[in-house]
Amino acid sequence: MAGAGTAGALEARACNVYLRYDSTAELLWRIASDLNGLHGVSVRAQELARTSEDRPLITVTMESMQRAERSLEDPLEVLMIGGMHAREWISSASVLCLMVRHFERLAEILATSPVRLAFLANLNPDGYAYTRTTQRSWRRTRTPLPRGGKFAGIDLNRNFGVANETWGFGNPEAFFSELYQGEYPFEALEARALRDLVLAGNPARRIVLDVHCCAKVVFPVYNASEVRVAEATQLAHASQGVLRYRERSDVIDAKNTGIAVDWMERYAGVRAAFMLEVPGKAQPVNFHDLFRVPASAIAGTTDMIELILEEAVKLYAQDLSGANSVESEQPRLPEVDNSDDGIEIDNDDGDANVLQAVDMRETKSESFVIADAGPLSGVRESGFLPTLAEDVPTPDESAAFEDAIIFDAFTKVEDNQDMESVHLLAAIFVLGIATLALCVEVIRRCRERWHAWRMEEARRKL
Ligand SMILES: [Zn+2]
Repeated sequence: MAGAGTAGALEARACNVYLRYDSTAELLWRIASDLNGLHGVSVRAQELARTSEDRPLITVTMESMQRAERSLEDPLEVLMIGGMHAREWISSASVLCLMVRHFERLAEILATSPVRLAFLANLNPDGYAYTRTTQRSWRRTRTPLPRGGKFAGIDLNRNFGVANETWGFGNPEAFFSELYQGEYPFEALEARALRDLVLAGNPARRIVLDVHCCAKVVFPVYNASEVRVAEATQLAHASQGVLRYRERSDVIDAKNTGIAVDWMERYAGVRAAFMLEVPGKAQPVNFHDLFRVPASAIAGTTDMIELILEEAVKLYAQDLSGANSVESEQPRLPEVDNSDDGIEIDNDDGDANVLQAVDMRETKSESFVIADAGPLSGVRESGFLPTLAEDVPTPDESAAFEDAIIFDAFTKVEDNQDMESVHLLAAIFVLGIATLALCVEVIRRCRERWHAWRMEEARRKL
């Protein structure tokens, strides 16, 4: 715990409430200015890029001043990412909180291990802002889609990779889908910013922990080696029973491609990359409620991911000497779309393994079953898949989501419910008024005629 003092003051700000993004950004700069030099740690904040709504993506890095001064060989870097999915507030809040709540502990780690720590607390600030103002359950980014009409945003965790290898298999025109993968890999500027961050320096000495909500599992990359599986299990173990290791399947389909950690480890050549799915709300009344984790849970979740971070340092810092030799084995990178940023990436993809998929089939928590449609024949090409791979627990049974088409219809409504319900209400209102006016007019004319007929009758009798 940071306790009293500068870090303590920042902790009070960061760990008790879900901050607006402008406040988050302000706090990230303050972390760098206020904590730099404390406990022998060099703390730096850096703006990676600006989003389409002009919000800064900010990284904070911490390393031992002593080690930095002695300019030792490249240290191991543990990069922790939060907020990739807009509605998973607990993810970005806990990454932010970690930096200040555990600053002293992080300083100890930096003093005793050859590591550097990097944090990207919120990768999707536009989406996050949207969940605060407009639609709480929004998942994607908010950049307008060139061909998507009124639809905006891409699912960041489906937009990484290499076409037809670690990206694709879905419908590039499913603009309405929650899992919209984009028309090409790295279409989302947030994905490009993270790509550049991951490729910078020496990826072979980088460990990535990508924090999501709410399946309570640790996922390695698809097609993970036995060693990697053992490491994922060990990271899960460090959470003291909160998270469990979950195996990923070998099914290829739209819901399993474009996932960031897969590209990072298989193509960017990072040493290892994992998804950490922290717990959602304890007793949610429905699926969307699951993401509404109370702010009182930020500190506890932070403590848990700190333990996992420590475990990752333990696991990988010790084989740093081995990492020197890893350099020569570093995977060579296939071509990615980099026309807009000039990054040179080697195009020699000799190891185009068949992509394997996330298997959510047996990802059960106490009262939830993580949705999985299983091997959905006939759905593969549609791209409208029912599960959000790493975070689609369902309120009832996975069976409820086995019909991909039904779920897709649900998603479609979900994405546009605001606009469409307004239009529908307006139409009903106008139609009602018109019907009423017509009835009044018909009655008036009938009465006129009846009156005229009565007058005629009376006249005839006279
Ligand atoms: Zn997520």
